Amino acid sequence: MSARILDGAAVARQIRAELGPAVAAFAARAGRPPGLGIVLVGDNPASEIYVRNKLKAAGEAGLRADLSRLPATAPVADLLEIVERLNRSEAHDGILVQSPLPQAMGSDAERRVFDLIRPDKDVDGFHPVNVGRLVQNRATLVAGTPSGIIELLERSNITIAGARVVIIGRSDIVGKPTALLLLHRHATVTMCHSRTKNLPRVAAEADILVVAMGRPAFVTKAFVKPGATVIDVGVNRLTDRADVERILAAGSKGRQDFEERGSVLVGDVHPEVAEVAGALTPVPGGVGPLTIAMLLKNTLRAAQERAG
Ligand code: NAP
Repeated sequence: MSARILDGAAVARQIRAELGPAVAAFAARAGRPPGLGIVLVGDNPASEIYVRNKLKAAGEAGLRADLSRLPATAPVADLLEIVERLNRSEAHDGILVQSPLPQAMGSDAERRVFDLIRPDKDVDGFHPVNVGRLVQNRATLVAGTPSGIIELLERSNITIAGARVVIIGRSDIVGKPTALLLLHRHATVTMCHSRTKNLPRVAAEADILVVAMGRPAFVTKAFVKPGATVIDVGVNRLTDRADVERILAAGSKGRQDFEERGSVLVGDVHPEVAEVAGALTPVPGGVGPLTIAMLLKNTLRAAQERAG
C-alpha cells in the first residue's frame, strides 16, 4: 500500500482563490484593502524566507502588507514601540511578529511582544485572550498551522468526529491548539511529548497522527497503524550527507535537491511511513503552505470584524 499524498499546496491555493472575492468586496466597501503589518527582527535565514513568502502571498491575495525591520541588536523596547504603532494604525488589521526573536532580546521577549498585540489584530492567534477563547470553543483568531491542519483534513474528507487522534508535540503554537480544534470537532485526543512512555505504541493507536516535534524522520513505520492519516508538521533542514542518505532514498526528489543545493528539508516523519499510512502530508508542500493561507484568511477576518 502507498499512502494518499495530501497536497497542502493545492488546498492552500484553493483557500487563497476563495479569499480573492471577499478581499475585493472588503476593499470596495472600506475604501482600502485589509492590511497586515509584519515585523522581522534580525537576519535569521529561515525567517527571511518565511517573511518573504508571507509578503508575496499577501500581495497576491490583494492585501496590503508592510514589513518593519529591526537589527538583531535592537532593544526589545524598539520592538514594543513598533507593535504599539501597529496597534494604533487604522490601515493595519493584522500584526505578525516573526519568531524566533534574537536571543539578545531576552528570554521573555516573545511573551512580552505577543501579549502587547491587540487581540483583535492578533492574526497569529498567540495572544492569551485568543488562546482562552479557543479553549472555550468561541469564535476567535486561531494560529495558522493548527487551523490549516483542520482545513486539510476536512477538505480531504478525513473524518475527525469519533477519530482517535494522537498528537506528538505539545507546543503553544502547534500541538496544543491543534488538540483543542480536534477536540471541538469530537475527536478523542491524546497528547504526547518527550516524557511519554511507549511512544510508538501510543502513536500506533491513532486513526489520525499529528507529528510536531522538530526531529527529522523520527516517526517510523512502527509508530503508524496501517491505513492511518499522518500529518507531518516538522520542518527540518538537513545539511549532513550521512543524515540525508539515512533518511532519503537514492534517486528521490529530496536526494536530488540535496545534491543541487547542499541542503534539503525533511519532516518529522520518515518517508518509509508512506508504505503503511492511508494518507500522508509531504514536506515540503504539506502543512507549510496552509499556514500562510490561514494567515491571509485571519487578516481578512480581522479586517471584517474591525469594520463591523
Ligand atoms: P517545539 O516548541 O520545539 O516543541 C516540540 C515538541 O516535541 C515538544 O512538546 C517536545 O516535548 C516534543 N518532543 C521533542 N522530542 C521528542 C521526543 N523524542 N519524543 C517525544 N516528544 C518529543 O516545536 P514546535 O514549534 O511545535 O515545532 C515543531 C516542528 O514543526 C518544528 O520542526 C517546526 O519547524 C515545525 N513547524 C512547522 C510549521 C509549518 O508551518 N509547517 C509551523 C510551526 C512549526 P517536550 O514538551 O516534552 O519538550
